Amino acid sequence: MTTKEIKDKLDDLREKLHKWNHAYYILDNPDVDDAVYDAAMRELIELESKYPELITLDSPSQRVGTKPVSEFKKVIHKTPLYSLDNALNFDELEEWQEKIFRVLGIDSSHDSTLEYVCEMKIDGLAIALTYTDGLLDLGATRGDGDIGEDITTNIKTINSIPLVLKEEIKDTLEVRGEVYMPIKSFEKLNKEQSDKGEKIFANPRNAASGSVRQYDSKITASRDLDMFIYAAYWGAPALTTHWDSLQLLKELGFKVNKTSKLCNGLSEVKDFCKEWYEKRYELPYAIDGVVVKVNDLAIQDELGFTAKSPRWAIAYKYPPEEATTKVISITCDVGRTGALTPVANLEPVLLAGSIVKRASLHNQDIVDKLDVREDDVVTVRKAGEIIPEVVSVNKEKRHHKNSQYKIPIKCPICNSKVEKEEDEAAFRCINHDCPAQRQRRIEHWCSRNAMDLDGVGESLIEQLLKNKLIKDPIDLYFLKQEELQSLERMAEKSSTNAITSIQSSKNRTLDRLIYALGIRHVGKTIAEILSMRFSSLDELANSSQDDLTNINGIGPKIAKSIIDFFQHDSSKEIIKKINKANIKSESIKHKTTSSKLLGKTLVITGTFSSMTRSKAEELIKIHGGKAGTTITKNTDYLIVGSEPGSKLKKAKELGINIINEGEFKELVE
Ligand code: NAD
Repeated sequence: MTTKEIKDKLDDLREKLHKWNHAYYILDNPDVDDAVYDAAMRELIELESKYPELITLDSPSQRVGTKPVSEFKKVIHKTPLYSLDNALNFDELEEWQEKIFRVLGIDSSHDSTLEYVCEMKIDGLAIALTYTDGLLDLGATRGDGDIGEDITTNIKTINSIPLVLKEEIKDTLEVRGEVYMPIKSFEKLNKEQSDKGEKIFANPRNAASGSVRQYDSKITASRDLDMFIYAAYWGAPALTTHWDSLQLLKELGFKVNKTSKLCNGLSEVKDFCKEWYEKRYELPYAIDGVVVKVNDLAIQDELGFTAKSPRWAIAYKYPPEEATTKVISITCDVGRTGALTPVANLEPVLLAGSIVKRASLHNQDIVDKLDVREDDVVTVRKAGEIIPEVVSVNKEKRHHKNSQYKIPIKCPICNSKVEKEEDEAAFRCINHDCPAQRQRRIEHWCSRNAMDLDGVGESLIEQLLKNKLIKDPIDLYFLKQEELQSLERMAEKSSTNAITSIQSSKNRTLDRLIYALGIRHVGKTIAEILSMRFSSLDELANSSQDDLTNINGIGPKIAKSIIDFFQHDSSKEIIKKINKANIKSESIKHKTTSSKLLGKTLVITGTFSSMTRSKAEELIKIHGGKAGTTITKNTDYLIVGSEPGSKLKKAKELGINIINEGEFKELVE
């Protein structure tokens, strides 16, 4: 290659990688598969190591992630958060150890061993947490390694992160770890997103990242996130090994991954990598390899860092699980809200330890992008244990003339009309009584976050519907034990359990009941907001569009959906039956307990550090005030949190009293 050709090639690779980094780290929506990205990055690194004079400071090979461009407050990390070099096979792992031996002056021909700690490489995102005097006061993303984003409010919604340390610590302690979304929650989130016609996350890492980087912490709170801590940065204790620091982190109350192992020498490391390659689908979270770290902290210091990663650690990456198979047909599943999800029915193929027969195609846009057709040869992938999906089509093997797949204009289950709303990717069957929607609605009613009916699963519901024992979820409450026992695979014990679980769900809180109804656009968080405002389901059912839009967090789209739902004859029937079945729901609406804010209208802007927005609204109401949504001349106070919106400007213009979070607390305390 001529110098010009090399430069062009480098420019091309850098431009591509910058673009892919932006899509991946900022938009949480990768343009290409990780394997494609990794191959381009390796090519760039190889070329740059051949021609070091052509390395530029802003080359993606020289930096971690990408500069944050969000509206979150920026955080400058005290010590950078690095990426990791990776080894794709045991030879590369050996090469890494040889490099370490060289730097340390160890003669590798002798039987020398180092201690290593092996940890799961969780498919999540790195977060740094700072504790001052034992209290969590900052949570930040990695960003470009030097500058991250302040996501403290969101981080505080993750239950496994201690807000206060178990032991008193006078120092400032910074810990780092991985925030992740468990596989089951990831699958569920994608299903819900797909039903709502919203963005599907490519993998648990993008889902976790998209969830913690939300401007509204209520959304983060509604997502199931967890965090493992794997590093501590502090001056105080004289620790000598990484392994000891993990033990100390556990004692302080952090969640440290139990699978981590102290290994003596590389052969134990390889055994660990092999063992977990076989067992990785037993884990409730997705991993893409094993992180191997030198145990001795003094040796870590000696080895130091490259521009991008520590020399004392490496990620041993597992190959992604992919398989090639043929599409037999493309059909559509109908969800609870009528959304049609195209599915590829496949020639059965072994993938990640299980036989795969179906793969989601998510929506028409994705079908079009892949250009997948019946009889095509396709590559399917399962990253972790997520729903398999079609990642590409082998067009060279296309020897048929089948046309492109289009979502049908009639529902494949009930033959009713299918419609697409303007601002949504999803097509929907408009027949509320469609049998598929009916089944999914009942499944939703029974699900864990709704009425939590343990022992009433998909196949039992299917049998109950088939035998005409139920037609909506409330019919479950009138079932008799003999009826259940008459069904296939229902012995006395399982039917008693099902009846007990159904009957004991009669006293759930109002938010669960509202959520269980499966109203479009009403997820868990909105249901909670509604249950704080209304004292019963009947009150909600009789509310007007204005009543609803006056509630902070409820926009016109959600309000319309609620009104439409309760106007439907079948919903009216359901409400009647709920009362008849004696399903009582306890409202979390608070009665006024003081008159400190009586007659006053308070509006909130920005994020509070000590409470959620709904908590603040609740406080306003408890003290007799009204929580307004917009600034008008009748507003008495604007309470300003961090990163306020345009309300602040308007309040200033109108001369409204502006107070901060602390002043608000003083008002109500
Ligand atoms: P990385 O994911 O290869 O490794 C570093 C990260 O590993 C850390 O930041 C941390 O978040 C994580 N980690 C998990 N468990 C850990 C543990 N026990 N100890 C330490 N760290 C642990 O590197 P990266 O810089 O975060 O991302 C690069 C990778 O991301 C690429 O190799 C590629 O696969 C993917 N990527 C893909 C695209 C795309 O467009 N598809 C774009 C950018 C990056």
